[in-house]
Order: sequence, then C-alpha cells, then structure tokens
Amino acid sequence: YDAKSSTGGMRLYEPDLHATSPRRLTLVSELRAALHDGSVVVHVQPKAELASGRVVGVEALVRWEHPERGWVPPDDFVSVAERSGLIGLLTTRVLDASLAACARWRADCHDLGVAVNLSTRSLQDPALIDEVTGLLLRYGVPAHRLTLEVTESSVMADPGRAVALLDQLRALGVRLSIDDFGTGYSSLSYLQRLPVQEVKIDRSFLSALRGDGENVAIVRAIVDLGRHLGLDVVAEGVEDQATWDLLRSMGCHLVQGWHLARPMPAEELPGWLAGRRSAPGRHGLRVV
Ligand code: C2E
Ligand code: MG
Ligand code: MG
Ligand code: MG
Repeated sequence: YDAKSSTGGMRLYEPDLHATSPRRLTLVSELRAALHDGSVVVHVQPKAELASGRVVGVEALVRWEHPERGWVPPDDFVSVAERSGLIGLLTTRVLDASLAACARWRADCHDLGVAVNLSTRSLQDPALIDEVTGLLLRYGVPAHRLTLEVTESSVMADPGRAVALLDQLRALGVRLSIDDFGTGYSSLSYLQRLPVQEVKIDRSFLSALRGDGENVAIVRAIVDLGRHLGLDVVAEGVEDQATWDLLRSMGCHLVQGWHLARPMPAEELPGWLAGRRSAPGRHGLRVV
C-alpha cells in the first residue's frame, strides 16, 4: 500500500520538523505511549524460493496503529524513534513480537525464518547481544531462524562498531543480511569483510526492471556477485510475473514482493499459507 493514503494524505513526520517543535514533541510522546500500550506491532511479508516457490520465511515490518491516523508506516516514525532515544524500545518490541510469532508457527509445524530490520542506532548498541540471546532462549527459536537486516549506510555510519557487533551476532548463529543493496556508497569489496549470509537487492532496481537495460545489468551483476561470494540473493519489491521470471532466469535465489504477498498481520500468515497450498497456481506462482 502507499504511505500517503494510509496517513490520509498527510505526512506524520517531516525531516525538517524542528526537534523542539510542539508537533514533534507530541509525536514523540504519542510514540512512547504506543510502544508501551501495544499499538506498535509487526506485519509480516513472506519470502519464497524462486526456483520452487516454497515459502522459507518472512520479514517483520513494524506498524503503528494510531487512533486517528490508522496504520502509520515505518518511514514516518522509525527516524523519530532514532532521534528521541526510543529506538531501543522499538527494536525490543519488534524482536519480541517477531520471535513470539516464529515460535507459534513452529508449534504449528511451519518451520519458517523471521527477519528483523535493525536501525543505525541499534547496530551500535552492545546491549543488543544479550537481548537477542535472551529472546531466542525465551521463545525457543534456533538462532539460525533469525535474520537481522542492516543497510550499507547504517554499517558505514560507524563501521568499526557495526562490524564488531555483527561479528558477535554471527557468533550466536544469527543470520545477517545487507538490505537495500546497491543504494549505498560502500565499495563492493567491503561486502567480503562483512559477516553476512544474504544480500537484498533494493526494490528501486526491481520496480523498473522490465524494459530497462541498465537496471537489468545492475540486478544481474548483484546476483552474480552474491552467488560468487556464496551469499543468498533476495530480490525485494517484485510486483509482477515478468520480473519474477527474469530473476529466476538470472539465478536469483529468493523473492519478496507484492506479487507473492503484501505484508499482513502475523496471525494471518497460517491462513495465507494454507490458502496457497490449496491453490498452488495463485499468487502468480507457476507450477512447473
Ligand atoms: P525494507 O526493510 O527495505 O522493507 C521493504 C519495504 O518494501 C517495506 O516497506 C515493504 O512493505 C515494501 N514492499 C515490499 N514488497 C513491495 C512491493 O512489491 N512493492 C512495493 N512498492 N513495496 C514493497 P515498509 O513496511 O513501509 O518499510 C519501509 C522501511 O522501514 C523498511 O525497508 C525498513 O528499512 C524500515 N523498517 C521496517 N520495519 C522496521 C523495524 O522493525 N525496525 C527498523 N529499524 N526499521 C524498519
Ligand atoms: Mg528489510
Ligand atoms: Mg529493503
Ligand atoms: Mg528500505
């Protein structure tokens, strides 16, 4: 869906909103309350293997259910949380909700992975290690079922600290993924030095893939690079069958996007999986 329509055409937050402006202070106190009263939740978006169509996991995407504004998308409040010191609490809520959901699916015999996005600040917070360890134990989820997604730019904000933290997370057995790959400014060789197992091709390259030779070349290069480095390559934002087929012919491993499914409340996932099994031709999946 589109961020503007879900906020009634109004942006909740504008980057130039001054730190001490009344609107911003209201927003911060509303967000703090929301983080405590359970109105900040996660929706999940399935991720599938391109070759087989098998769903292997989901990405957790945070949502704020605002009493007047409806579902508020993360781009409208994650940076507010970062600047106001609420990001630690937000990350905790998202990790907790994601691992709790993962444990419920496991009890239902759905052995799915769950991916959680980390912000720049969380990537510099040493407390994250104990927190992740504790939550994995609490919900009985094996570490390799959790993937943490970080962006190139959040790593580059303080590469030394970020890499140290990523090494510790990796030592726990957690999977690590570079999100929005291709949009940052880091050199390609840096990828080799990061302890990651996955790259996600930014959806800006995918949305304009058909008929655009340059984007096709970029996507192909990222897929090849990932394969040569032994990384899983995920294409995000796949919206149609033609893009799906093209990615498959390139040897891309995994896809995520509206063509497979839009993000949904976590409790709707088992029903969606069941519906998909009973109608395997749906969601654009070609049965081969
Ligand atoms: P992201 O991690 O790159 O997530 C992918 C975004 O693309 C999501 O937007 C998803 O809803 C959207 N999307 C997925 N498939 C399609 C498609 O086929 N077409 C189009 N047009 N869009 C698609 P969303 O949920 O608004 O999240 C935006 C960003 O907010 C995320 O980008 C991520 O960077 C951040 N974010 C989301 N959840 C969290 C969180 O729990 N913590 C932190 N720190 N950041 C989060
Ligand atoms: Mg992500
Ligand atoms: Mg992304
Ligand atoms: Mg993004």
